[in-house]
Amino acid sequence: ASAQIGVTGLAVMGSNIARNFAKHGYTVALHNRSIAKTDALLAEHGGDGNFVRTETIEDFVAALEKPRRVLIMVKAGDPTDAVIEELAAAMEPGDIIIDGGNALYTDTIRREAAMKARGLNFVGAGISGGEEGALNGPAIMPGGPKESYESLGPLLESIAAQVDGTPCCTHIGPDGSGHFVKMVHNGIEYADMQLIGEAYHLFRDALGFDAKQIADVFTQWNSGELESYLVEITAEVLNQVDAKTGQPLVDVIVDAAEQKGTGRWTVKSALDLGIPVTGIAEAVFARALSGSRAQRKAAVGLAAGKLGEKPTDVVQFTEDIRQALYASKIVAYAQGFDQIAAGSAEYNWDLRPGDMATIWRGGCIIRARFLNRIKEAYDQNPELPSLILAPYFREAIETAIDSWRRVVATATLLGIPVPAFASSLSYYDALRAERLPAALTQGQRDFFGAHTYERIDAPGKYHTLWSGDRSEVSAD
Ligand code: NDP
Repeated sequence: ASAQIGVTGLAVMGSNIARNFAKHGYTVALHNRSIAKTDALLAEHGGDGNFVRTETIEDFVAALEKPRRVLIMVKAGDPTDAVIEELAAAMEPGDIIIDGGNALYTDTIRREAAMKARGLNFVGAGISGGEEGALNGPAIMPGGPKESYESLGPLLESIAAQVDGTPCCTHIGPDGSGHFVKMVHNGIEYADMQLIGEAYHLFRDALGFDAKQIADVFTQWNSGELESYLVEITAEVLNQVDAKTGQPLVDVIVDAAEQKGTGRWTVKSALDLGIPVTGIAEAVFARALSGSRAQRKAAVGLAAGKLGEKPTDVVQFTEDIRQALYASKIVAYAQGFDQIAAGSAEYNWDLRPGDMATIWRGGCIIRARFLNRIKEAYDQNPELPSLILAPYFREAIETAIDSWRRVVATATLLGIPVPAFASSLSYYDALRAERLPAALTQGQRDFFGAHTYERIDAPGKYHTLWSGDRSEVSAD
């Protein structure tokens, strides 16, 4: 037994992570259901470091130093359960199984409990960064027993992305917390992408910019407070010219967005936790709407009504869009961090939001300069009731607010859909409202269902005898 880590599942992610471990000097045992992938990896990249080729699970497990550490990188869902079962049967108490796939956190909670009962340590680790990140440094969000992190942490931290000397990996919390946090990361990624998409739509249809002009704007934005991986790749995609037609590639791609499910999971979980993640939800719904091709085709030509004038001050409107994007992004992150706090309370995970901001600064898809600000906000006040209330973000929104309103109003008058910009602004306005129409909702609920209400001037619950003399009675 000579390998410090084993990787099973050598498709895109697994093979790149295995190479990453090897490049950091670890001896890596390799395993894949079909041997072809193992051999292809060795043939192409065997020179990256020390690998141990194995064919059966038994050989694979036998190749590992104790306590054994195995990273599973197979398809999420049933295949992961099958591989866990095979491994568990071959491993010994104290060994560590790490699931680095995109598992649903409730599956991870279940699996962790089952492995614990068999004396095994199970670590659900969210990994972000795609293929490139897996090879050169992803962001890693490992959950599971704290003790297992003592042996596992140094390995994961060494292969993770590093920002200012700090690894983008830390122990997140018990059982499913790592995958929960990775899920919310992906939800935020959906919101961020949707907001960028809406900005692009406005440039195209409100200002009449072509793809190249829009790419230039994003390139410029990437040197300011919006600097981020997603803004950077947006410019790259918009700059790409299609070899076949000579058109910008973006203009020949079908406008129907697909999704694998982590955004949907985030919204479902937020609904259960009662947390309004409006930016993420709008992003998931926007993808669904874009993909309803038959319905969209049938709806082309529906009345737009009398549309407003296009903006004439291009420089001002460009800045307005930038501000609207920034403010909406703050809202999306604030909502995501609210969901993390709610998940933490629900499952007793004791999560530290500042940790997420720290490890998301590098390696992952939502990496951004902005996350330094979030980290600072939680450093200053770990109990922050909302990110929006941190002085820095509060001021950023104060600066952006007029632009933000102009963008949403202009888009509405031009018939350009901006669901994430608009819902984020509505969320902000609702959050800061002194009085919401929920009082009426409570009155209605009491009317038809005797659900009771509270009064602003006295404690307790009350009910009006709506079908009687309409006097009020105490409902306590
Ligand atoms: P895939 O999700 O495409 O999975 C392919 C791998 O799973 C192959 O190694 C395959 O083995 C193995 N596999 C499938 N079914 C079984 C089974 N029943 N028993 C044993 N092995 C099985 O690979 P990716 O590399 O794209 O992703 C791996 C994991 O990482 C997934 O959970 C994914 O969600 C997650 N992830 C992916 C990211 C990405 O950018 N792609 C980013 C972050 C996480 P075989 O070769 O024999 O078919």
